Amino acid sequence: MKVIDHIKGAKDTLISFEVLPPLKGKGIEALYKHLDPLMEFKPSYINVTYHRSEHVFKKNTDGSFQKVIIRKRPGTESICAAIMNRYNVDTVPHLICGGFSINDTEDALINLRYLGIDNVLVLRGDAAKNESAFEPEPGGHRYASDLLKQVTNLNAGIYLEDDLKGTQKTDFCIGVAGYPEKHFEAPNMQTDLNFLKAKVDGGADYIVTQMFFDNEKYYAFVKACRDAGITVPIIPGLKPVYSKKQLTILPKTFHIDLPADLSNEILKCKSDEEVEKVGEEWLLHQSRDLKKNGVPVLHYYTLGKPHIVVNVVKNL
Ligand code: FAD
Repeated sequence: MKVIDHIKGAKDTLISFEVLPPLKGKGIEALYKHLDPLMEFKPSYINVTYHRSEHVFKKNTDGSFQKVIIRKRPGTESICAAIMNRYNVDTVPHLICGGFSINDTEDALINLRYLGIDNVLVLRGDAAKNESAFEPEPGGHRYASDLLKQVTNLNAGIYLEDDLKGTQKTDFCIGVAGYPEKHFEAPNMQTDLNFLKAKVDGGADYIVTQMFFDNEKYYAFVKACRDAGITVPIIPGLKPVYSKKQLTILPKTFHIDLPADLSNEILKCKSDEEVEKVGEEWLLHQSRDLKKNGVPVLHYYTLGKPHIVVNVVKNL
């Protein structure tokens, strides 16, 4: 079932979770162990992130270096199918531009259709680890809006080979990313919003936000979107803080702020166990406030800490 139909049919705020595919070589059991306790909350859907390959340099025995391509977390599409099969829940694979030619993308979408997956979250992806700025694959897409166009084309039965006869239309529900604190490459919020609106006008059914720790930023973002004529649901993305290191890692990696009230409490903690407690309280407070304000879905980035999310959702 499509995310948008879950939202349209809901009488209350829904719950969804986001997980990463397992590290290569680890098997899927650890992911099931991660998800099992979360399933009691009957999430409407589960997102599975996509991780592009990286170039790394491996040292040879003679001291020289060899450039090799590795993919640490393969298998997004099949993980989605495995989750659907085990838990009978809808899934949302993330689909990125980075590392994909348009032919790779078409094949991936065809596979998703064969697997009975109704949803995709369409993203650009970040720059590869060895690049300073995002570079599309030769013959690939530069922006999420270009990838979105390929998905809507396929939804209209338009494949890359225009001589295919009697093609089936796909019917993907399409989500896109939005940034309450602005995407870090955008020159200003207004420009970022214009590009976000272009994704919605291009056929996106809903927006899911980058994580934020100050609900006022989410509310201001929703208002700015509505003022710009964006009417689709805007799903808040939420993440627990659980270690002191995150005070610097989160702003550096995700280009977001942590409010002073939160960072002051974290700085007072003597151990990461104490930080977990603070993070859990904060997330619960954020979630209750968002639910009270009628958000369509609470979308949790569970990222290796399902027990924090379990405690929060239990106490909502
Ligand atoms: P875009 O919408 O393409 O925007 C990228 C930048 O280009 C923005 O600054 C925008 O303002 C600008 N822009 C957009 N269109 C144009 C245009 N036509 N001309 C000029 N400028 C333009 N990354 C992964 O690799 N895997 C994941 O699974 C993943 N999941 C994510 C889930 C969520 C909810 C979020 C918020 C992010 C996720 N990311 C993931 C990270 C995401 O790929 C990065 O934030 C990336 O830098 C931007 O992706 P986007 O889809 O927002 O890009």
